[in-house]
Amino acid sequence: MVEADLCIVGAGAAGITLAREFVGHSTTVAVVESGGLELEDKTQSLYEGRVSGFPYRYPNTMRLRYFGGSTNHWSGNCRPLDEVDFLHRPWLPYSGWPFGRNELIPYYQRAQAVCGLQAFDYAIESWMDEARLRNFPFDPKKLLTGIKHISAPVRFGTAYRHELEDAANVTVYNHGNLTEIEATETAKHVTGLQCQCLTGKRFRVRTSIYILATGGIENARHLLASDAIQSEGLGNGHDRVGRFFMDHPHGIAGWIVFRNRFNIVDLYQAKTRRNAFVKGVVTMSPQILSGEALSNIYFNLAASMSRSEGEKSVSALLQSFREWEVPDDLLSHLGNIIADLDDVGEAAYHRMTDNADPFNKLRVHCRIEPTPDPDSRVTLTSDRDALGMRRIDLHWKPGDLALKSYNRGVEILALEVGRTGLGRMQVQPAGDSGWPDRFEPSGHHIGTTRMHAAPEKGVVDANCRVHDIDNLYIAGSSVFPTAGCNNPTLTVVALALRLADHIKNRS
Ligand SMILES: Cc1cc2nc3c(=O)[nH]c(=O)nc-3n(C[C@H](O)[C@H](O)[C@H](O)COP(=O)(O)OP(=O)(O)OC[C@H]3O[C@@H](n4cnc5c(N)ncnc54)[C@H](O)[C@@H]3O)c2cc1C
Repeated sequence: MVEADLCIVGAGAAGITLAREFVGHSTTVAVVESGGLELEDKTQSLYEGRVSGFPYRYPNTMRLRYFGGSTNHWSGNCRPLDEVDFLHRPWLPYSGWPFGRNELIPYYQRAQAVCGLQAFDYAIESWMDEARLRNFPFDPKKLLTGIKHISAPVRFGTAYRHELEDAANVTVYNHGNLTEIEATETAKHVTGLQCQCLTGKRFRVRTSIYILATGGIENARHLLASDAIQSEGLGNGHDRVGRFFMDHPHGIAGWIVFRNRFNIVDLYQAKTRRNAFVKGVVTMSPQILSGEALSNIYFNLAASMSRSEGEKSVSALLQSFREWEVPDDLLSHLGNIIADLDDVGEAAYHRMTDNADPFNKLRVHCRIEPTPDPDSRVTLTSDRDALGMRRIDLHWKPGDLALKSYNRGVEILALEVGRTGLGRMQVQPAGDSGWPDRFEPSGHHIGTTRMHAAPEKGVVDANCRVHDIDNLYIAGSSVFPTAGCNNPTLTVVALALRLADHIKNRS
């Protein structure tokens, strides 16, 4: 039997953030984590399941089941949710958080450091006074330029493992899998957790407070699988658990081709500025989102360098001369340079004056807010994993509004690029599904234990406590009622910090 004051199940971004908040605190903490310190096939295969709907990669490759969780493969892109994401939007079904963005600002500020980022500053004005930063002269009533911060990326397991190991009041139990949440007969109070190792060893955990932080799919799986008291699953009296699953469809929407080569793209390149690794992104204005009833979208522009043969020959010759060699194909390189003299001269000019490469093309990557839909959901199948737990069936469709918003967003961007006179946009054609081919989910698992003040409309309340259960909380993106279009982890960490404060103040 493991005993402590608080049990956190899962040591990913949310679980590790929560555990760190209690280091040195009077609360004793048990962290139960399924994996060890490295990826192990047997443990990872506990994540296998069925998928249907929008083409979804298998659920066991879109997340990682070992210490550090999916931060062992995240890319580190960070942006807080936008103000509009928290609002009730009449055109977006089931939208509206129980609080506004301001509630999360102090936690976003703290979350920056946890994610390995510099100070919370996403205001475009703060970055525009940097030398040489220019952005597109878009009509601000239509498109805005925002900022995203990029983490190294911090692997939470590696970065914070020793801090937790050294803490006298925190114990991490690796290779321990939650298999059942036990509750009183009224299902209003959790009495303990049943856990198992893949070796067959079983143990129980008994604490005063429990937090599920097992990721956006497993949080629902555990509630549904804990059906000894409530046959429909714990906390599922209103049939909300597992429903409203969302991910962000994303992919390449097209290319912006400039009329002339120049460095307007500088802001859109990820670079270290004032010690922060940041880049510009293009977002839709709130007026367009509400005026045209669209869900949220952002465009990430990436420089795509297409160098002429002459420029490639200049590079090859410079490289050879640096190594005191004369290349065999010297004559053909000289021929290329003479044939492309204009491009070579322009590139040399840019390097001398701007110390940056000129680009003539930007790849436009797009991420879209999906529509909350009770029929997009995680359910349990009769197949069982190696621990005897029922595997998941994941069914998801991003929704017609997401597709409509994507098409309109791309149209607005293309028209605005043309209006500026700087170039034009080549739009990626639609495939059979209506989306461009190779659009896919992002691995952001959202919504399955959604937050709502009313128990019949959500699984957790505004403090992330499961409605009607006095000592069970949920951490992670499964509590987001809507997904916005920005990457979720900064918000996952901010909510975990807020939950830690709430639990410390609970008496
Ligand atoms: C390829 C990829 C790239 C990504 N890039 C970005 C990005 O650039 N920016 C961004 O914001 N987000 C990104 N994400 C999303 C990011 O990884 C997640 O938002 C984040 O990891 C979620 O944290 P979490 O703690 O909720 O879940 P996880 O990190 O998944 O952690 C869950 C933990 O619970 C453990 N667990 C599961 N079941 C049990 C059980 N039964 N018992 C005990 N423990 C259990 C797991 O082993 C795991 O350690 C990316 C995701 C993917 C797939």
